[in-house]
Amino acid sequence: ETPIERKPEWIKTKARFGPEYKALQALVKTQELHTVCQEAGCPNIFECWEDKEATFLIGGSQCTRRCDFCQIDTGKPADYDRDEPRRVASSVQTMGLRYATVTGVARDDLPDEGAWLHAETVRQIHALNPGTGVELLATDFSGDPALLELVFESRPEVFAHNVETVPRIFKRIRPAFRYERSLGVITQARDARLITKSNLILGMGETRAEISSALQDLHDAGCDIITVTQYLRPSPRHLPVASWVRPEEFVEIREEAEQIGFLGVLAGPLVRSSYRAGRLWAQSLRR
Ligand code: SF4
Ligand code: SF4
Repeated sequence: ETPIERKPEWIKTKARFGPEYKALQALVKTQELHTVCQEAGCPNIFECWEDKEATFLIGGSQCTRRCDFCQIDTGKPADYDRDEPRRVASSVQTMGLRYATVTGVARDDLPDEGAWLHAETVRQIHALNPGTGVELLATDFSGDPALLELVFESRPEVFAHNVETVPRIFKRIRPAFRYERSLGVITQARDARLITKSNLILGMGETRAEISSALQDLHDAGCDIITVTQYLRPSPRHLPVASWVRPEEFVEIREEAEQIGFLGVLAGPLVRSSYRAGRLWAQSLRR
């Protein structure tokens, strides 16, 4: 292990077992529910679950694309599971969630790249849980306006598509994506009158000036909400951590993003794109 791999002391969370967290944890165990929060060992689970927010992964556990920072396996996905939207909606109901983030793997093996699956999951969650907000964190659907329209029609409270990194290193880190195409997806969502969101992961080799210019690009593209996070290397097979961004730099970046005009901003070493997503959404509505 090289010194850079040693996590700084600010990358730590305290376990705080609140009543809502404990109740949800028991439920998830007895009902055999699957959440990203638990399965990815997310450090924010105590906070998010206490707020009755959680994240679900759809489309299977294999992704057809490969991004250098991502812990999801690349491979040939399983068959399309048309019952998945119903199961996710029923998990949201069982857990009594106030806000659910749904994230899908890229399904470039399917003619619709998983557009129906994404849209149907949003629709079924809404139908079964009228008071629950849904955030859809999706792939780019190759920027295809017809596929994107299918997804937008399901009217998630927030449509998120993450650029994750800056243009100079984008192609190396996300070979199956294009920076400009991702910005275009956000613009199409904005034009469909959805609230839009994106994420930047820091610590992968970008410079401070490049962060500023990516924030400006995102805002210009029509992005309403932004989260900025620290890269944590999932395994030795993944891209090494290039830098640890200090908490005070995250504060500076948050202030800069607010100045640029984003409606909602969260930036910090332990922030995830779905961290306190419901609160951030509610906050941006009040702006
Ligand atoms: Fe991970 Fe998404 Fe990239 Fe697939 S497309 S490897 S799920 S970040
Ligand atoms: Fe779950 Fe996302 Fe919160 Fe982590 S940040 S606990 S994955 S909702």
